[in-house]
Amino acid sequence: MKKHNFNAGPSILPREVIEQTAQAILDFNGSGLSILEISHRHKDFQAVIDEAEALFKEILGVPEGYSVLFLGGGASLEFCMAPMNFLNKRAAYLNTGVWSKKAIKEAKQFGEVIEVASSADTTFNYIPKGFTIPKDVDYFHYTSNNTIYGTEIRETPDSPVPIICDMSSDIFSHPVEVEKYICIYGGAQKNLAPAGVTFVVVRNDALGKVERTIPTMLDYRTHVEGGSMFNTPPVLPIYSAMLTLRWIKKCGGIAEMERRAKERADLLYKAIDESPIFRPTIADPRDRSRMNICFVMKDEYKELEPDFLKFATERGMVGVKGHRSVGGFRASCYNALPLESVQALVDCMKEFEKTKI
Ligand SMILES: *Cc1c(COP(=O)(O)O)cnc(C)c1O
Repeated sequence: MKKHNFNAGPSILPREVIEQTAQAILDFNGSGLSILEISHRHKDFQAVIDEAEALFKEILGVPEGYSVLFLGGGASLEFCMAPMNFLNKRAAYLNTGVWSKKAIKEAKQFGEVIEVASSADTTFNYIPKGFTIPKDVDYFHYTSNNTIYGTEIRETPDSPVPIICDMSSDIFSHPVEVEKYICIYGGAQKNLAPAGVTFVVVRNDALGKVERTIPTMLDYRTHVEGGSMFNTPPVLPIYSAMLTLRWIKKCGGIAEMERRAKERADLLYKAIDESPIFRPTIADPRDRSRMNICFVMKDEYKELEPDFLKFATERGMVGVKGHRSVGGFRASCYNALPLESVQALVDCMKEFEKTKI
């Protein structure tokens, strides 16, 4: 049976990326050696990291004066690394969910954190609006896509101060005005590569302004100077990231990724909005994520949720169970997910509805 992969992360990658990664594990560039058993300083791997960086900059539109880094540690390490490198006294944070909260917790170790707004009052089911970012803070931090709750901020918020953003789960699915940010980071395992590599975009002239001493490995300057090769980087995930970036470029870049994301999300949200038994968890269409689409059963059908999960699983749907803090269902529709998979889920929902009403 064909599987439709709605996993939240690690998650679906383009089939050709998986195949080419598998090939490089067997024989890298016809060298007779696996990519797993060569030096990261080998010229053929240097070419990989150079291409990954160049494609990342080209596709996202990263201006001069910025560096793109490929590091270890996950987005979770960036929760502390970003404030360590950019927070002198005070920073402003928007609290839109679990990942924002974790970022806030780490930042508090390095200075004062002003929470400009929060949607915690209603299980983070909306994006706060009309908040004010103070002018006397070092930066404003937000999470562009809330993977767990299914909300997303695609337009850069108006900010009087430089911006830092966790773009783990919607990178390369919509355009980004990179010049408004001093730092953009994310774990690669949602939209870019297998787990193990973290992408970080930093504005070079924003570095070196904090008063604290920073341990070498946690100082972005170390990795800017070392070209992400200060120590052994996550070689294989970087190779796959390069392949995914090639794939994005070949498909037509961010414009095409955005068109596809919109097409998938429109199809699924329409089915949820029109359903007699399902309902979306995010009411305001402006706040709805295109990457993680969350829905539950209406109160009068609530007890049917386990039945639908079984029904969907039997028809090849993978990873549609909602996060435990939201319940219901979550279909993660990352860049590599074909429209056919969303159509299959919609067909499955409609078929289930017919058996119940
Ligand atoms: C998955 C995720 C993280 C955590 O990433 P790790 O690489 O596991 O540390 C952080 N932020 C967001 C928005 C995520 O989706």
